[in-house]
Amino acid sequence: MLSNQPEFQKLLLLHSRDRRQQKLKRDLEQSPLEQNRIQKQIDVEKESVALALSEWKELEAKNNTLENEIIALTDKIARLKHQQLEVKKNEEYRALDNEIVTVGSSQSLLEDEQLEILMKIDDARKTAEIAKSKITLKIEELEKSLLSCKDHCLELTADILKLDDEISKARDEVEPSIISSYERTKTVITKPPYVTPVVDQKCSGCNLRVSNDVVSSILVERKITQCDQCGRIVYIER
Ligand SMILES: [Zn+2]
Repeated sequence: MLSNQPEFQKLLLLHSRDRRQQKLKRDLEQSPLEQNRIQKQIDVEKESVALALSEWKELEAKNNTLENEIIALTDKIARLKHQQLEVKKNEEYRALDNEIVTVGSSQSLLEDEQLEILMKIDDARKTAEIAKSKITLKIEELEKSLLSCKDHCLELTADILKLDDEISKARDEVEPSIISSYERTKTVITKPPYVTPVVDQKCSGCNLRVSNDVVSSILVERKITQCDQCGRIVYIER
């Protein structure tokens, strides 16, 4: 048939609505995958914030432990000094003196360690805060995309339903014999289009040359014709 035959134009309308709906259905099928992908990204970002925070928290815990150890040693030194006041013998006094020095040097080692930890805490806190604010923004963006993906899903579903209606209206307009050819073609052809023009004696669906019989069936007999290579319904633009 020729593209300007009114009966054929009705088929072309049905075909274009069919294809539009198929595309929307494919998009709708992809949507859960896309939503999954975004959700995974959100989880990864959240984990990296948690990681930055936990490094900082670990250092804080370490600092608390050191702080308690230092306080315990301060108490111990105070106790030893108190004991010193009560001893009578010189050697006992000196022994306590030695112990005070030993405990004091352990304490200053711990204080050095604490100083290092405090500097690390400062860095870790800054890193965690930067990570948190940056990643929070990123998570917000991702959550927005997730929402709009879900909205798009709803729109697609509504459009698909609307097209159901438009397709059945368009189908009612097409001659029954043309409809049955069209339906048969749809069961054979896995990849749309199902209706396609012949250009330079080549089917634009499979890109192969069609026979002269096909061309004459379209041009002369002007009847519904299928490509003798792929089976698609073929027509010529007029
Ligand atoms: Zn073909």
